[in-house]
Amino acid sequence: MFCDQCEQTAGGTGCTTRMGTCGKDEDIHSLQDTLVYGLKGIAAYAYHARQFEARDEEVDAFMHEALFTTLTNVSFDLNQHLAMVLKCGEMNLKIMELLDKVHVENFGNPVPTAVDTGTRKGPGILVTGHDLLDLQEILKQTEGTGINIYTHGEMLPAHAYPELKKFKHLAGNYGGAWQEQRKDFNAFPGAILVNTNCVMTPQAGTYLDRLFTCNVAGVQGAAHIKTRDFSALIQKAKTLPSLPEANGQKIMTGFHHTAILGLADKIVGAVKAGKIKRFFLIGGCDGARPGRNYYTEFAEKVPQDCVILTLACGKYRFNKLEFGAIDGIPRLIDIGQCNNAYSAIQVALALSKVFNCSVNELPISFVLSWFEQKAVAILLTLLYLNIKGIRLGPTLPAFISKNVLNVLVEKFDIKPVTTVDADLEQALKGK
Ligand code: SF4
Repeated sequence: MFCDQCEQTAGGTGCTTRMGTCGKDEDIHSLQDTLVYGLKGIAAYAYHARQFEARDEEVDAFMHEALFTTLTNVSFDLNQHLAMVLKCGEMNLKIMELLDKVHVENFGNPVPTAVDTGTRKGPGILVTGHDLLDLQEILKQTEGTGINIYTHGEMLPAHAYPELKKFKHLAGNYGGAWQEQRKDFNAFPGAILVNTNCVMTPQAGTYLDRLFTCNVAGVQGAAHIKTRDFSALIQKAKTLPSLPEANGQKIMTGFHHTAILGLADKIVGAVKAGKIKRFFLIGGCDGARPGRNYYTEFAEKVPQDCVILTLACGKYRFNKLEFGAIDGIPRLIDIGQCNNAYSAIQVALALSKVFNCSVNELPISFVLSWFEQKAVAILLTLLYLNIKGIRLGPTLPAFISKNVLNVLVEKFDIKPVTTVDADLEQALKGK
C-alpha cells in the first residue's frame, strides 16, 4: 500500500505508523493496536462458546464496530479510542461469562481436584490447547480402547469438570506450559493433539508424524482433523509405544468461583481472624523469556499468611511447589484457564459484598503476566471494572505508547513489575 499522506510505502522503511495513516499520532495507534489485540482475545472465547452454539449478539456487533474504528482515517479522537478499549474489556467480560455458562451447563460445576502428573502403562494421547469439547469427544471415542488420555498445559482444568473427570481413562496432566511443548512432546511416546493455541512447530525429525491438529490449530505437515472424528488419532496411538507406569506428584485445580464461594465462610473467618492477610492473584500467560522467573520467585516469597490464586498457564512455573494450607484453605488455589478470570472476578465481587467495600479496598493484589492476546482482553476487562494497582509484566507490551502508559498509570495505577522484593513489599502494604 502506498500512503498518500507521506508518500512512503506503508509499513516500509520510513513509515512511522506501520499502516500508512500518518495523520494519526502514535497514541491513537497504540490504542488501536491494544483494541485489535483485545478483539483477538474476545474472538477466541467467542469461538469456543460457538462450539456449544452459544453466541452474544452485543459482542458480535461490538467486534464489527470496534474493527471498523481501526480503519484508516475513521477517528482522530483519543478519548473515543480509550472508551472503545474499555468497552472491549466489558465485552470480554460478557463473552467469558457466556463461555463459563456453557462449560458449566455441559460439563457441570468444576470441583477441586488433585490431578496426577505421572503416567500409566499403556498407549496414550496427549491433548493440548483449550477446547474442552474436543477433549470430551476424544474421551468418548477412546473409552474401552485401553488408550489413556493426558492433558497438557491449559487443558489441566478439564480434570475438574464432572462430565470429563468421570472418564476413568482421563489419566493425568503431562508436562508443563506451552513453551515446554518441544521437550514434552519429544518425551511423550504416544499421539498428540493440539486443539487451539499456543502451538509450537516441531523441530525437524522429532514428533511431527504423531502430531495432529484440529479446530483452528494447524501445523504444516501434521494431520488435521476437520470434524470431531478422532479415529485417525486413535489408530495412530494404537501403533505407538506404550507409556511406562510412573509415579508423579499431584497438582490441584478446579477452584471455580462456585467452589471458592463454597468456602466463603471459612475464608471470611480466616481473614477476620487475621490468619489470611492478603490474596495474590498471580495469573496470566507463560512464555520462554528468562524474566518470567519473576512469577516463580514472587509465589515462593509470598508470606505464609497469604493465599495465591492462579489462572492460565503462568502457574506452571510454580504449581508443583508445596504451599500448604491455612485452616484447611489451600494456599495455592488454581481457578483454571485464562477465561476463568471470570471466576476470579466473581470471587472478588462476592468478597467485596461480604466486606462491604470496593474490590480495590479488598486485600487482593493482582500480579499479571501477559504473552498473547487473551491476556490483553482480560487486562482490559479488569480496567473496565476499574480495578486499580495491577502489576503487569514481565515487560510492558511494545504497542503501549508512553502517553498511553501515562494514562493507564494515572487512571488505573498500573504498575510495571520491578523486582520481586520491592513489589512484594509494596503489595503487602496495600500499594
Ligand atoms: S494461557 Fe495464554 S499463553 Fe498460556 S496456553 Fe493459554 S493462550 Fe497460550
